[in-house]
Amino acid sequence: MTRPPARLTVLAGPTAVGKGTVSADLRARYPQVWLSVSATTRSPRPGEVDGVHYHFVSPEEFDAMEASGEMLETALVHGRNRYGTPRRPVEERLAAGEPALLEIDLQGARKVRETMPDAQFVFLAPPSFEELVRRLVGRGTEDAEERERRLATARVELAAESEFDHVIVNDDVHRATDELVSLMGLPLAPTE
Ligand code: 5GP
Repeated sequence: MTRPPARLTVLAGPTAVGKGTVSADLRARYPQVWLSVSATTRSPRPGEVDGVHYHFVSPEEFDAMEASGEMLETALVHGRNRYGTPRRPVEERLAAGEPALLEIDLQGARKVRETMPDAQFVFLAPPSFEELVRRLVGRGTEDAEERERRLATARVELAAESEFDHVIVNDDVHRATDELVSLMGLPLAPTE
């Protein structure tokens, strides 16, 4: 069986849908899958490791990375912190014939679509809006004001589903991760 060509896969979806949880599950059960490490100006949450979950940088460092053309895309997310995908690791991966995965917000996904139209775009959707609210409140990492800001963004972002090549409903994290890996064309079995 011939393997499909290596491709860039972009995973996006609204806040609290579980993109971070799916990424963590992917890292744990499919360590062979290469996931881009974004740069961000936000502070690390408990348990987050610099260089693994994000490159945590100052606004000045972020500006410098952006100005020098090091970023494939950048976005101001929830009107607050800046996030961006370092370009070189992604390009090196694809040049080596290896698939790459970006987990980014909707604005970032739209920018990547402009510059890399051959990428495949995957939308991670919640089972329902009510479930999204429940998850956001449940994880307890945002205060009430930040939650309202994120839910306002989420309402708009949910309508963008139709722009994507594929939709994965995150009703079960393991199942959603397996579906993502399968869409990437990777003949891999999870390490449980
Ligand atoms: P969090 O602060 O919860 O880790 O992430 C907030 C949002 O930023 C999520 O929607 C996440 O997908 C998005 N994000 C993470 N990295 C990037 C990136 O490199 N570029 C863009 N555009 N969004 C990102």
